Order: sequence, then structure tokens, then C-alpha cells
Amino acid sequence: AHPSLPRNALGLTRRDYEGGMSTLCAGCGHDSVTAAIVEAIWEMSIRPEQLVKLSGIGCSSKTTAYFDSGGHGFNSVHGRMPSIATGAISANRDLHYVGVSGDGDTLSIGFGQFAHAIRRNLNMLYIIENNGVYGLTKGQFSASADIGTKAKRGEENRQPPVDPVLTALTLGGSFIARSFSGDKEQLVPLIMAGLRHRGFALIDVLSPCVTFNDHQGSTKSYSFIRENYDAVVHADFIAPAQEITASYAAGEAMSVAMHDGSRILLRKLDPSYDPTDRTRAYAYLRSRLAQGEYVTGLIHIDESSP
Ligand code: SF4
Repeated sequence: AHPSLPRNALGLTRRDYEGGMSTLCAGCGHDSVTAAIVEAIWEMSIRPEQLVKLSGIGCSSKTTAYFDSGGHGFNSVHGRMPSIATGAISANRDLHYVGVSGDGDTLSIGFGQFAHAIRRNLNMLYIIENNGVYGLTKGQFSASADIGTKAKRGEENRQPPVDPVLTALTLGGSFIARSFSGDKEQLVPLIMAGLRHRGFALIDVLSPCVTFNDHQGSTKSYSFIRENYDAVVHADFIAPAQEITASYAAGEAMSVAMHDGSRILLRKLDPSYDPTDRTRAYAYLRSRLAQGEYVTGLIHIDESSP
């Protein structure tokens, strides 16, 4: 049907892996995550019918409608996707399982489910589209909102955030990564690696909500910029259609402009970083977070995971 489009080993084009048209807001980071998922499963030549997509509730959980899995999927109730995944994986271990969730779905109502999915080392890829707000219900703070973050109506969040990556490290997660929705160059290989991993593969994707994230006035994290910081590359533009992209080298930090003028500071792991050392990974992440930086890349892998 598309003679000019590139085909994978199965003779399928990227379009064959796409789902329905997105109803998310224009510029939403979640649509970039969908594009990265499509790219990864196309590149890996996974047959759509070998893929099972699972989600809970929230803007993030609509992502699974936008890529194809040959009909296998379950849009479950709020925070309960890991239970559905547990049942499905128990019934058929030969398929690829991709769960897409949000910070509300994962770190509030679904926190217990998330913890036990890690503890059980379920053989699945679990993507969090993390933006610190409940977008679907008009922008209330989620459990990953930074202290000092301001909501659209001006209220300030005074509660400390739950960090899913640090949580997964303490719970014994066997594959733990973080990325940014606008960095396809990093996100696609991470998704491919997560799909190949035998065990629970977590990718926490910082994915801006262009409608309700308003970080002006934050006291730390998202809007934190260290002055005169070595190797920081400032991206002083906001791309058309509010699409927020980031491209930065390994070992470098990058301050990315958000749609509202605030900034997020990302640091890509250096190639010399050893992801097999869980204790050092935890200490490194804490030290970078204290500087307002979100470390991105493959943060930890337990190579003994079956
Ligand atoms: Fe995306 Fe926010 Fe719009 Fe939801 S409300 S679709 S998270 S931009």
C-alpha cells in the first residue's frame, strides 16, 4: 500500500505499526513517546500479534491506542495495569508485553501495584509518561510534582515528589532507565533494550504536559538552572507547534526550554558509567538530583535477571 516507505524484515512499514489518530493536546510529550514505541517495534520487526499493550487510566494510558498490537491489549482501571499484566504474562510467556502508565497511575493509586510488579520482576516493558500532573482531570499535582511547582491556577505544591527511578532501585528493579520524550535518539534504543530484557524493564520518560505543566516559580528541579555550569548547553528556542525536543551528547547536561518558559535540566550518562552497580547508581542519582539534574540513560541493569 505504501511502495516508497522503508520496510522491516517482515516487509512492514512504520505505518503498519501505527494505531488510531491521537486525541491528545497538540505538542503533548506522550505523542513523541508513541512515535518512539512505533519506531522501536518496527525496527525490531516484532509481529504486531506478538505484542500485548496494557495501560491504566490517564492521558498517558491513551498512548496504547496509538500503536498497533494486532488486537492484543487491555486498557484497565486506574493503577491496576500490573495486575492485568501479571495474569496475562502467566497465561502466555511467549509474547512481548508493553505497559504504558502515567505518574498518577503509577505513583499514587497504583503505587502498591507498581512496587510488586518490580518485586516480581514481571517480564514486561513498563513506560511511565511522567509530567507531574493529572492532565486528564485538569492539572492537579501528581505524586511526582516537585516541591514549589505551581499549578495553572497558582497553587503551590508543598509535598516532596516520589521518584520512580530511585524507588525501582531500592526495590531491586532489574532494568531501570530514564529518558525525555523529546529525545528520540536516546528513547528508541532504550525501548528496544527494554523489550529485549528478560524481566521488568522500567523507563521513566519525562514527558511535558503542554496544557497544565506550569513550572514558573518552582524552587527546584524543573526550573533549576545552575549558572556558569560546565558543559551545559542552553536550548533557547521553543520549537513550532510547542514540540519540545532535546539532543545532547553522552556525559553532557542540557537545559531544555519548556512551553511556559521554564526549563528542565537533563544529564545524559557518560559512556564510562557502570549501570551494573546498584548502590553507586543510587548515590549518583541522588547527587545529581541535589543539583537539580535529571539523569537520563540506562541507569541500572541486573545482568543476572533470568
Ligand atoms: Fe498531554 Fe497534558 Fe494534554 Fe493530557 S492535558 S493530553 S498530558 S498536554
